[in-house]
Amino acid sequence: MIKRVLIVGGGVAGTMVANRLAKSMPKEVYDGKLEIMLLTDSVQHIYQPGFLFIAFNEGFLEQFQKDQRELLHPKINLIIDRAKIIDVKKGRVVTEKHSFNYDFLVIATGSYPDMNSVPGLAEAGHTFYTPEGAVKLRDAMLNFKGGTLLLTIDVPHKCPVAPLEFIFMADDFYRQLGIREKVKLKYTYPIGRVHSMEAIASWAVREFEKRGIEYEVYFNLEKVDPAKKLAYTMDGSEHPFDLLVSVPAHRGAQVVKDSGLGDEDGFIPTDRYTLKMEGQDNVYVVGDATNLPVSKAGSTAHYEADVVVKNIICELKGIPPSHRYDGKAFCFVETGLKEATYITFNYKQPPQLVPSSEMLHWFKISYNEIYWLAARGIL
Ligand SMILES: Cc1cc2nc3c(=O)[nH]c(=O)nc-3n(C[C@H](O)[C@H](O)[C@H](O)COP(=O)(O)OP(=O)(O)OC[C@H]3O[C@@H](n4cnc5c(N)ncnc54)[C@H](O)[C@@H]3O)c2cc1C
Repeated sequence: MIKRVLIVGGGVAGTMVANRLAKSMPKEVYDGKLEIMLLTDSVQHIYQPGFLFIAFNEGFLEQFQKDQRELLHPKINLIIDRAKIIDVKKGRVVTEKHSFNYDFLVIATGSYPDMNSVPGLAEAGHTFYTPEGAVKLRDAMLNFKGGTLLLTIDVPHKCPVAPLEFIFMADDFYRQLGIREKVKLKYTYPIGRVHSMEAIASWAVREFEKRGIEYEVYFNLEKVDPAKKLAYTMDGSEHPFDLLVSVPAHRGAQVVKDSGLGDEDGFIPTDRYTLKMEGQDNVYVVGDATNLPVSKAGSTAHYEADVVVKNIICELKGIPPSHRYDGKAFCFVETGLKEATYITFNYKQPPQLVPSSEMLHWFKISYNEIYWLAARGIL
């Protein structure tokens, strides 16, 4: 009997799961005993870390996107359509025109910045968290001749280090343009330190002080007045800006909310080790779509994909799925336009930083290309 693994979402997580599974079970795939179906709503696959480079005129959108079909193993059944309802009780995913049953379901529908989470923000603020936002911000960054660049951050958001990368790159960017003394850089964070991870927060503060970057904690944006160029926080203070850049709170995919599968932010309750959706034996969740206490990052999705693929193979072969995710993440962190550090951590080990270097920056840049091999399941 043909078994179907249905994967919803063709971003980092979904593409890696689909390709790794196809490569790991070639006989079953070519004999027609295993169908791997990838249902995703976009013909283009976008490498999101590239947005940061676009914002600083260090890259162009075309470099960071490829045709989804081109990235996939030839035997993967790619369906370009939007899932409207994921019905785990009936074991099917419904789109506008179709309904797909499955033996195993993998939900990999990602997370999305919500610029409408704060009144006035969408109108007044820029973001580098979307492709069109990054392009628009690049133009604003290039036209900015001085004043206050205010960076506001809300949680949860993907790539927890990207806002730090942004502010360090902005520092270098305006030094390179020779106007750094005319630009006040202000970084803000909603909790009592400048990053959720303590080791990163204390390192970042030392860097801010060295580079003359202002920072404020417990900064919770309430509303923005685009005409007056004022940001208001929940403690009643007002903060003037000339250029507002924002990393707003993220939400899970609409289909997760519409299907009643997520928590209040649209993230799916997931077992932190097995990566199965809670209460569902044949449904896995991978990447940003989970509610796990791990960074929402491409590297997280990569490590999770390994576990999910191995466990699905076990289950298809009738063997108990024994593989477990340990919370591992690995991120290169740009600390300027030409240097970087990296962090790695898991559920038990907090991150430790290594000294920044130009070599690590080149590793990060190289990974922008290497990513396409990882997405194809080659690395
Ligand atoms: C500026 C920026 C910098 C970053 N830097 C890094 C970094 O340096 N390192 C790192 O590890 N990570 C980084 N990330 C984070 C990383 O890009 C994400 O964590 C990663 O893309 C998550 O993968 P995912 O597959 O879960 O979600 P996504 O890659 O977002 O994919 C979700 C997919 O689901 C599809 N989808 C959604 N809803 C539906 C539906 N209803 N029907 C069908 N398809 C649907 C979408 O079209 C998309 O293809 C960065 C992100 C940003 C924005």
